[in-house]
Amino acid sequence: MAKNPENVNNEDTPEVKPAELQTKLCEICDKVGSTRCGACKVSRYCSGSCQKEGWSKHKLVCKSFQEYSDFGRPPSKGPGSIFRRAVLFHPDEEKPRFVWVEFKREDIFGDGLLYDNPQLKGFGIDAGGIHYILENARLGRELPHCLLVRYRDNFMNDGSKVNKAIWKTLRSDVKNKTRDWRGPVLVYGLEGVDHEPVPSIDLDTSDFRDIVDWLNTRE
Ligand SMILES: [Zn+2]
Ligand SMILES: [Zn+2]
Repeated sequence: MAKNPENVNNEDTPEVKPAELQTKLCEICDKVGSTRCGACKVSRYCSGSCQKEGWSKHKLVCKSFQEYSDFGRPPSKGPGSIFRRAVLFHPDEEKPRFVWVEFKREDIFGDGLLYDNPQLKGFGIDAGGIHYILENARLGRELPHCLLVRYRDNFMNDGSKVNKAIWKTLRSDVKNKTRDWRGPVLVYGLEGVDHEPVPSIDLDTSDFRDIVDWLNTRE
């Protein structure tokens, strides 16, 4: 594979790497990801050893991603409706997987601005719980876009079951320290933070790695 031309200018931007370069870095370390997973053709690695290190998590969604290629996107349900690829952690499933989520471009706040509004009811998630992931703390990188984690606000007290799919993504030393996730958890992407209207985007397997790192670094 050809070397990324962006790499040449690396010295000019020692502090914050531009988003476009960040998407071309190895998922495991700070080097340029010059090879990609041969199966999903998305996740980038600098070397065989980093690919091997990432495999225990990547294997959870590599096949699922291939089953949710752009060709399988459901057709729009009308003006302002679009389906985007997101990541679902279903409480009763053994691992996470990709799903299609419908977004409706709607005037949510009655101020004339149209927001991409995800339709979450079908996933058993009320509007309550929300968290914005904007950086990967393990790698010290800003993310190229915003990941939104949605969950039931009151999952500790509403009878929600322990989320087995999230459990699968946690390192053993984190399992007893982190939040006791329960009920369905869905993660989708926006081009930026939604203080103003920003378009929804598709997530892929490298976004999944950022989600896993977040689940394993938060307290
Ligand atoms: Zn690497
Ligand atoms: Zn893959």
